[in-house]
Amino acid sequence: MAARNRTEPRIGAFVAVAVNASLEIARARRNAAFAHRSRRHRSRRMAGPARRARRSAIRIAAARVRPGNIACASVAGMSSALRPDDVLSLRPQGLYCAAGDFYIDPLQPVARALITHGHGDHARADMGEYHTSLAGLPVLRWRLGERRYIAHDYGEPFNLGAARVSLHPAGHVLGSAQVRIEAGGRVWVVSGDYKRQPDPTCAPFQPVRCDVFVTEATFALPIYRWPDTAAEVARIERWRQRCGERGEAAVLFCYALGKAQRLLAELRAFGGRPVYAHGAIEAGVRVYREAGVAMVETRPLEDGGRGAHAGELVLAPPSALGSAWMRRFRRVQTALASGWMRVRGNRRRRNVDRGFVISDHADWPALLASIDDSGASRVLATHGRSEALVRVLRERGMDAHSLPAPAQATPSSPSPSPDSDA
Ligand SMILES: [Zn+2]
Repeated sequence: MAARNRTEPRIGAFVAVAVNASLEIARARRNAAFAHRSRRHRSRRMAGPARRARRSAIRIAAARVRPGNIACASVAGMSSALRPDDVLSLRPQGLYCAAGDFYIDPLQPVARALITHGHGDHARADMGEYHTSLAGLPVLRWRLGERRYIAHDYGEPFNLGAARVSLHPAGHVLGSAQVRIEAGGRVWVVSGDYKRQPDPTCAPFQPVRCDVFVTEATFALPIYRWPDTAAEVARIERWRQRCGERGEAAVLFCYALGKAQRLLAELRAFGGRPVYAHGAIEAGVRVYREAGVAMVETRPLEDGGRGAHAGELVLAPPSALGSAWMRRFRRVQTALASGWMRVRGNRRRRNVDRGFVISDHADWPALLASIDDSGASRVLATHGRSEALVRVLRERGMDAHSLPAPAQATPSSPSPSPDSDA
């Protein structure tokens, strides 16, 4: 019975990775076909790099689906990702540290939870107690209400059972933290979500040396490379101006916690024009303002005429896209700010007019740099597309494995979810 329980998830994961890789190839080929059909409608200057990026995506997808690679990255990787004497183990409730008797970002109610940051796929209700960074405390209060919170300064160690724990900036959103655990003479670091680009709304990612680095892998493919944020924000401002010339409102969809506030902070360098905010965005803006983050002025949407917001930038959560809320705009252009916008096909699938490549996650070069900076000899990649990363790290001689998310035996979908924080 025990042997069957160990084997079944591995077979399920193997099949799921194969299916996902096949889907990715199909998606890349559809994108390539679309590029071919619409080639005449684009300039030669744009078509060349776009075609090369698509060919690269197809090559990567095709490489991933080779039987040897799938076996290497999934069945073999998952079976040996965590060992019996490791500092962390995977339980149905989440990633568990036996030495400290705590879970990191648990999926189900547990007595003691360490929360890396306030996004819904990391911070959940009904834990006995929540350990958080001090900077992340107001975010958790906003998302989860009054609970038993124990807040810690970045870099200040505290003891939980036999484990010595500290939280370190992850540069993802306000209060986001990596978790450093020292137990049994070994140091593990769990990154949570992180990025390396400058972000005026939160403390920058701090490399922490460790033996084992558990890294996120949301954008772990070489096609994901972020442009300079200020250049993308300048594109947003030019887009808003053009919308104004056509009498249209410029509605930009972005995640309500982190991305929206980062955009509002970056927009200060572009004249500081007020921005209209959907109610869900404004709630997070209030939390950031109270934490002392400087952002441009935000205003509630006006009820007046249906053309009232022509030429204005409006921030809204992705869930508002296609909803009745949009009917207030008589003439409107839509856009999405996300790392997923690096791939043109995603913009089409989300039915928006424009895409701006602004992500709160590490891109491919930043993932590799952060793994180097950790000094770790062993890397476990989780939360996303880990197979390509694992393969590259192994080619470099590292002990690397995919670590499946506890909630699912399969890697998460590459398609942007409605409320993706990416
Ligand atoms: Zn996040």
